[in-house]
Amino acid sequence: MATLEINDLHVSVETEGGPAEILRGVNLTVKQGETHAIMGPNGSGKSTLAYSLAGHPKYTVTGGTVTLDGEDVLEMAVDERARAGVFLAMQYPVEVPGVSVSNFLRTAATAVRGEAPKLRTWVKEVKEAMARLEMDPAFAERNVNEGFSGGEKKRHEILQLELLRPKIAILDETDSGLDIDALRTVSEGVNRVRGSGEVGTLLITHYTRILRYINPDHVHVFARGRIVESGGPELAEKLEAEGYEQYVKGGA
Ligand code: ADP
Ligand code: MG
Ligand code: MG
Repeated sequence: MATLEINDLHVSVETEGGPAEILRGVNLTVKQGETHAIMGPNGSGKSTLAYSLAGHPKYTVTGGTVTLDGEDVLEMAVDERARAGVFLAMQYPVEVPGVSVSNFLRTAATAVRGEAPKLRTWVKEVKEAMARLEMDPAFAERNVNEGFSGGEKKRHEILQLELLRPKIAILDETDSGLDIDALRTVSEGVNRVRGSGEVGTLLITHYTRILRYINPDHVHVFARGRIVESGGPELAEKLEAEGYEQYVKGGA
């Protein structure tokens, strides 16, 4: 079973006023098959955690360690992290002009699997995964994220998740901007992948509503750059009732 271990992680970003410390000692262990929800107020550093794990160049690790099965993730280049099985669905996915969804997915699958999927079975695999996510087949020929609606972007992320089957999936605000039907479809996708027992999921969210569809094993409250409380699903209910205010005294 793959294990992602985050130990006392400190991360800074470069701002106009110089480097600013955003992550201030994050500790978290995610195992394959587990679903962890990270919940916290805006600006608390949730996306910074996601980007840091994925290796975004804007974020500088100033302390701590991240390992996947004992291997140093922070030493790995972005593509090496993906190959090792770490997947990030971004809160603000980027456009990839001139590259179709179909080609993008095949390239990604080739990178992750180490060999190109056979074209015939691949086309079928993509079609079936798209059907499960209630996506129009024509979507496969569109350029990545070009003019995608909020719901299409999120479905595209879950499509990647289903096809790439990472060991650790980081979903940053997969629920934001979705109407209730899209939220259900996307959640069902996450639950399917989760049901395989092969993926450890880090579900980052500001709102509790996605947790009506995806029941996490562990819930963590994130405030001011670190996890300040951990518990089971009941913690999400407490947050729903009481909000984040008690955690953000002194500013998020
Ligand atoms: P969250 O996802 O919890 O809303 P973020 O990780 O996006 O929080 O942001 C945490 C803090 O770090 C915010 O104050 C934000 O302005 C700052 N920050 C994040 N990324 C950058 C960046 N690339 N440049 C400057 N400041 C940043
Ligand atoms: Mg935010
Ligand atoms: Mg964010």
